[in-house]
Amino acid sequence: MRTLVRGGMVVSVDPEVGDLPRGDVLIEDGRIAAVGATVDAAGAEVVDATGKIVMPGFVDTHRHTWQTAFRGIGADWTFDQYRVAVHGTLKPHYRPEDVYLGNLLGRIEALSSGVTTMLDWFHCSDRPENADAAIQALREAPGRSVFCYGAIGPDITPEITRVRAQLSDDGMALGLRGPQLSTMDDTAADVALARELGLRVSVHVHGATGWPSGRRPVAGMRDRGLLDDRTTFVHANGLSDDQVAMLADAGCSVSISPDVELKMGLGWPETGRMLAAGIHPSLSIDDCPSVGGDMFSTMRTAFSVQRGLVTGGGLTARDVLGFATVEGARACGLDARTGSITVGKDADLVLLDAEDPSIFPVGNPVGSIVAAGHPGLVDSVFVAGKAVKRGGRLLGVDLPALRARLLESRERIAAAAGIPIGGSWVPEAR
Ligand SMILES: [Zn+2]
Repeated sequence: MRTLVRGGMVVSVDPEVGDLPRGDVLIEDGRIAAVGATVDAAGAEVVDATGKIVMPGFVDTHRHTWQTAFRGIGADWTFDQYRVAVHGTLKPHYRPEDVYLGNLLGRIEALSSGVTTMLDWFHCSDRPENADAAIQALREAPGRSVFCYGAIGPDITPEITRVRAQLSDDGMALGLRGPQLSTMDDTAADVALARELGLRVSVHVHGATGWPSGRRPVAGMRDRGLLDDRTTFVHANGLSDDQVAMLADAGCSVSISPDVELKMGLGWPETGRMLAAGIHPSLSIDDCPSVGGDMFSTMRTAFSVQRGLVTGGGLTARDVLGFATVEGARACGLDARTGSITVGKDADLVLLDAEDPSIFPVGNPVGSIVAAGHPGLVDSVFVAGKAVKRGGRLLGVDLPALRARLLESRERIAAAAGIPIGGSWVPEAR
């Protein structure tokens, strides 16, 4: 099976390939077989990319997808209010069906805006059936997903082992409760389990006040030998300089969620401090009750904030596009498979409409993507060479039926939790 994506403006995010003002990408058996100004591929099916930007799919390294039914209601929440609302009030009422629908529609939304790879940071884990439902949804959504399991309980080993047996080596990660939400002993045990099972690790950390315990989470983990290059630290705002250096020394990755961090008061996104330490961060959405789910706005916030913090700029649009693609792939251990338009990688491609009035004319495609891009531009999405969106429409997805089911799920959870829908509910922080 051969497909030629022909005549687009190619933004490869691969320094060897560079940008091609007019280029062809040949897909063979789901992989990128050739990239060039002109690729000869007689007999291949042709996708006309004239007037389109052809770029690698985005990688979101941290999203709590199960919360999709409550999209938007937390726009005004602080971090403490979010914890009370989502974890304290809504989560106890989630059934497997609710998890399934949240994960499915959340994953589909991400895919529709060009997120071909997504790490689902799952912590609606009161019962094993919820995890099974989350995984089922990720399997049904036609994107590349990593199930990052934040299991809870006195001993998570049986449950993590059970789920590990169902997923591929690169399809699962362990979401740590972390030193700030449990104890360092628990954290050490969880990391040991991850290493034993060959799982990458993701953990939320924060250096400032307002977190339940532990002001030096990274130092504590370093002292126990728990840092390595298979670990991603989410947020990391306000970490002391020495702890940032520890992350760099150990080769850890960092996932920045700029919109949530700013809006919830976690602090300034640490893009610049991470870069100064030699860490190229990835980007993530975090939670959709609070912020939008697309990587365009996420890139723009990261870009604008960092440019604002450093007089004279420094950070470039190309840097930021790298964070949202290849650095995300690296953080998921998937950079040999995805994250750039490189021969041999899977064909995870996004075609943007470069003739849309909102970005036309496109003279600097990387600049247009980062400074002015939006989900409305996403014309086509391919995952491992398979078209999942064409001509602005998702393929093989019955959105009206899924929408109806998600609304039912939302009404039921809200009623059980005793919260209003349709207003601007702000819980009391406790
Ligand atoms: Zn998070």
